[in-house]
Amino acid sequence: MKEEVKKNMALSNSLYRAQERDELILHYQPQVNIDTGKIVGLEALLRWKHPKMGMIPPNVFIPLAEKNGMINSIGLWVLETAVKQNKKWQDMGFPHLRMAVNLSIAQFTNPNFAKDVDQILRDTGMNPKYLELEITESIATRQAESSANILNRLKELGVSVSIDDFGVEYSSLNRLKLLPIDRIKIDMQFIHGIEVSEKDKAIIKVIINLANSLGLEVLAEGVETDTQLKFLSKNMCHDVQGYYFYKPHSIMEIEKILRKGVGRI
Ligand code: C2E
Ligand code: MG
Ligand code: MG
Repeated sequence: MKEEVKKNMALSNSLYRAQERDELILHYQPQVNIDTGKIVGLEALLRWKHPKMGMIPPNVFIPLAEKNGMINSIGLWVLETAVKQNKKWQDMGFPHLRMAVNLSIAQFTNPNFAKDVDQILRDTGMNPKYLELEITESIATRQAESSANILNRLKELGVSVSIDDFGVEYSSLNRLKLLPIDRIKIDMQFIHGIEVSEKDKAIIKVIINLANSLGLEVLAEGVETDTQLKFLSKNMCHDVQGYYFYKPHSIMEIEKILRKGVGRI
């Protein structure tokens, strides 16, 4: 326990310099429409290339950044970098794709956030419709009114909003009705249960039906197998993200994939 705390404190301290030293990088994971086999979007996923410890995954250092207050500046860097990169790819002649960026609660509730998003979109000149902000259910379900106000301001900019990891936290259906959401991302825990659990299959069907009935888009995360893909396709979930098609990749690898122009269908 003590060792763990010490290690986290050391990591947290070196995170202050990571940004200045360009140790933070983004990988991008393609999202695929299974009917057309085409890539329809990319999700920006943060990594920390630590000089001594190698690649540190976001689940380890984002909670530290949330605690030490760095998440706002890191989050802004992520947003700016991902939008710039997406605009660059569009200008290079690749198909125009949606870029999804994950948000932490502190960013979402930062009073300057919508203004910052607007500024980034203006500076890069990317059409806002290609930016999707991913929030979690815990963000969506806290203080309904303030969340709705923030989301409405963001929506006025022309960006879209999705709920990430849907189904694992406290899902308020009423909130889903009230908030201006565009897409639900089904948590991968359910997708991985497709082969083994009738209950997971039932939950996925309910989420897909719910999305379809509410006029929301739906995307399945963590798709790894043919069986999972077939089940999703049969149940009208057409957009997927997962190792079956692509892992998160570096800029260079993504460009290779985009040049080929097709998914693994
Ligand atoms: P997430 O947003 O739900 O992202 C999906 C995670 O699932 C990614 O992990 C991705 O690499 C992984 N994944 C994708 N397909 C598959 C698959 O087929 N099988 C399996 N087993 N895993 C798959 P990653 O990159 O380690 O990110 C973990 C989480 O860290 C993200 O979950 C997100 O919540 C958070 N995160 C990542 N980047 C950022 C960021 O820039 N800002 C914030 N606030 N959070 C971030
Ligand atoms: Mg996400
Ligand atoms: Mg997720």
